[in-house]
Amino acid sequence: MVKEIFTDVVIAGTGGTGLSCAIVAAENNLKVIAIEKLPKIGGNTRISSGFFAVGTKEQQVEGLHLSTKEAIRQLNEYNHYLNNGPLTKRIVENAKPTLEAIEKWGMEIKLNPTSNTTQYAHKDNPYAGGSYHMYQNKDDSYERIKKNLEEKGVKFLFKTTMKDLVKDKDGLIKGIIAVDENGNEVKIYAKATLVATGGFGGNVQRVAKLMKTNRMRSLGVPSMGEGMTALENAGAVNIDSHALIHAAQLARSKVTQNTSKKHLAGFSDNPLTRLLLTPLMWVDPDGRRFTNEDTVYDTVLWANAGYNVGGMYYILVDTKTLNEYTRGTKLTVSKAGPGATDKPGDFVKLADEAVRLGTAFKGETLAKLAEKADMNLKNLETSVKTYNEAVKNKDDKEFAKKSNHLIYSVEEGPFYLLKAQVAYLGTVGGVRVDDHMRVLDKSFKTIKGLYAGGANAGGYYEGQSYPAYEGLASGFAWTSGRLAGLAIVSDLGD
Ligand SMILES: Cc1cc2nc3c(=O)[nH]c(=O)nc-3n(C[C@H](O)[C@H](O)[C@H](O)COP(=O)(O)OP(=O)(O)OC[C@H]3O[C@@H](n4cnc5c(N)ncnc54)[C@H](O)[C@@H]3O)c2cc1C
Repeated sequence: MVKEIFTDVVIAGTGGTGLSCAIVAAENNLKVIAIEKLPKIGGNTRISSGFFAVGTKEQQVEGLHLSTKEAIRQLNEYNHYLNNGPLTKRIVENAKPTLEAIEKWGMEIKLNPTSNTTQYAHKDNPYAGGSYHMYQNKDDSYERIKKNLEEKGVKFLFKTTMKDLVKDKDGLIKGIIAVDENGNEVKIYAKATLVATGGFGGNVQRVAKLMKTNRMRSLGVPSMGEGMTALENAGAVNIDSHALIHAAQLARSKVTQNTSKKHLAGFSDNPLTRLLLTPLMWVDPDGRRFTNEDTVYDTVLWANAGYNVGGMYYILVDTKTLNEYTRGTKLTVSKAGPGATDKPGDFVKLADEAVRLGTAFKGETLAKLAEKADMNLKNLETSVKTYNEAVKNKDDKEFAKKSNHLIYSVEEGPFYLLKAQVAYLGTVGGVRVDDHMRVLDKSFKTIKGLYAGGANAGGYYEGQSYPAYEGLASGFAWTSGRLAGLAIVSDLGD
């Protein structure tokens, strides 16, 4: 039997977007049902570290006086004006009140000042590196938000998965069709529907098709995209969904947030991560060098460079370099993305183990190495020769890598290629919305009663390139959810 529920607002997905909308709706005494496929609230937002906002009290305390005007200008420029201007402006201007609202509802926040940024490339830009408001004591914070919302009457239905939208005979959106944990259909009729299911990063086939490579690694909660598909079927236009590509990992690194106490983001505590996180020599799968490796100091630029060669590349080192790394490296170890462990280790032994595990190749000569990795020898030899000249002359004529990063040449065999894979943190971008998060159809008309936000909404980032401003996606989730809530309150009052 189909269960039917009637409410003012139905929200699918309880990440930052859904929760923030629920807060506004609850503050305005609307009846809210929030469905969530997992057994707990938070989604990818709960895994994320921080929230981009400018002009906050936390920044004032640090003496950081940033303007929304300048933040909007930088974001528009970064996005080449392919972003939605009015939406960008509203999000940036509403980030501060949104942050204050979620703090009031239970989230503990601490600013990471520019001087502490883990992305060293951001040290000169407080907008990129000093706007990261980090969530503290996340489990307690989310529990407080849930409890406060429940006390205000918000009803959560866990292990309940949205499948589609309810449409009446005229095609108007009237709520959500979901399936509960026992496989029973639940129809939730509502005056307003927010689809906040966080994109489709768990649907690796869909991401591979969109991004034209299956070589990247997926992180995050398993959002399969039912919400996004339902939005598209309701006449919404997906303008810019793409994978949120972010840093790279050594192949087969253990991807688990439970190890996060071991080092920065918990991807692997193998000392070889220091090879991943220093600007050594990189080559594409056919042996060509392809970028200035100092992009490793910025998660986005680093991932973009790796994505450009199909999402997988190799770190090329010789035995002399490995022996030096056993003693220590002269290069600054990046803390971007996965972060590196500072555990000691014998790098030759560890690299040999990586070869045994199939995540690295080894060759006594470049010719043997190219054969093992099925790589074009001529490409590899040319790349190595040119790179060694750059190291010798402290002048990278190919990609202008900084001279102080041109330290380790590739000369003494055996040589090793270590496989690195770009990672993605779900998807971002999505359907076209107005600057109040109302979903628009192909004629730019609002689809009455339908709202989208967070990783389901388009217009905040240029397709495929996520701006390197820390906390942008997570901040967008909370702030767009709040804007959707405010729009719902206003639309239901009309
Ligand atoms: C490891 C990791 C680290 C990150 N770090 C950062 C960071 O530090 N800063 C930053 O800005 N961004 C970061 N991000 C990205 C950011 O977290 C997301 O872009 C953002 O949180 C998305 O918010 P959302 O509300 O749209 O979706 P989510 O927070 O993912 O919430 C969506 C919710 O919907 C649920 N759901 C999915 N499908 C259904 C369905 N059919 N029915 C019912 N429920 C469904 C999901 O279970 C989930 O709970 C990170 C992401 C990951 C994975």
